[in-house]
Amino acid sequence: MDSLSFIKSIQKRDNTSFIMYKEGKYSLDGINTITQMEILQKCKRLGMIHSDVEHLFKVLPKTLHSEYEDPNGYYLLTDLLESVEGAAKIMSHYIPKKPFIGTQARGKISARIIPNHLAKENIILFERELFVFVNLLSKILCEILPNEVISADSINCIEMVKSIDENPQILKRVWDLLSAYIFEGHVSLSYPYILSKNKLQLQYQLTRSIELFILSHEYAHLLLKHSQSLQDIKGVLNKENRMDTQKLLSRFHQKFEYQADETGLMIAHLAINDKGDAKYTTFVGVFFYFAFFEMIEKILRIFGEGSYSCNIDTHPSFSSRSKKLSKVINKGVLEEMNQSLRFLNSSFSNVDKKLTTKYGNDVIKIKNHIEIAVQHLWMQIKPKMHKANRQGIEVNQMWRDNIK
Ligand SMILES: [Zn+2]
Repeated sequence: MDSLSFIKSIQKRDNTSFIMYKEGKYSLDGINTITQMEILQKCKRLGMIHSDVEHLFKVLPKTLHSEYEDPNGYYLLTDLLESVEGAAKIMSHYIPKKPFIGTQARGKISARIIPNHLAKENIILFERELFVFVNLLSKILCEILPNEVISADSINCIEMVKSIDENPQILKRVWDLLSAYIFEGHVSLSYPYILSKNKLQLQYQLTRSIELFILSHEYAHLLLKHSQSLQDIKGVLNKENRMDTQKLLSRFHQKFEYQADETGLMIAHLAINDKGDAKYTTFVGVFFYFAFFEMIEKILRIFGEGSYSCNIDTHPSFSSRSKKLSKVINKGVLEEMNQSLRFLNSSFSNVDKKLTTKYGNDVIKIKNHIEIAVQHLWMQIKPKMHKANRQGIEVNQMWRDNIK
């Protein structure tokens, strides 16, 4: 089966047209069952700025490959992939055959790679709501951050905690997002809002940096040929008939996750910095993303009696990913991170010039300050979650599948 038909078959099976457009279907000739006006209203509700929406209309019919794709998300993905490939080319490390991308509605907020061995292609399938989630997350972060511009000094936990305490709206929105995601199973069911004008630029940068990191992480898995390596390792272990096969495999899984984080962050950092000076933005966005997911893990533990992990066996915890990443960046900055490409055994002369900025302790400082702010949120969310649990409110089925 070719990759496109494969994506379509998955989308058809999952009835993916639910989330944004309900029964809306799209064809390559344009939009046939939902009016442009309805899409425009949806985009506005999601907080997209006017020029983005206008641009979306221009690119819509050209970029859609499957009638099940939601045009907004698909446009976003193709645009991100272009940026990621651009950055990878600057590093002289890119995948010669462009991966296929698509969206799927599983309700998991993650992405996964499916190799299509027959066509010698790779398919990256993104959860349909992933980028809605990232958008809402960035909005929350924007409200917490005291300044519209990010610098090493502006990431200050005292100021952030003050923002949270002085603006009760923030906690309300965090709760709204968490409950839509955890109880209802759909982040897009949370209440839509638009940030004040002075924060829009920051929101764009933060959203973009997290989106780029997510895509770059998957791209890095492909670049570093992780799924192939895992297959090889599995083959060897099976031949040896070892008792600890599963344990060893999960160790490799985790190692590859760290590698994809390192390389992915480097690609994302390069991609975002191509569009202006956003020195610390990538780190701020990514550390907040990890800290927020760590909070989600804690919440699920309340409902799952302490045995939950988002990706049992294959993924390290979010806090250890965050810690490891900050250490790598901090060690001697991003040129050290080039070392993560040592797995490819090649030289990095092209990258060196682009990534020689010194960060010193700034990155670890940023990580710590963000974690303190999220911890402050958590202290207020925690009793509410315990109360919900006592009242017999259940987490959505998609999470229950994971709770052991
Ligand atoms: Zn991964």
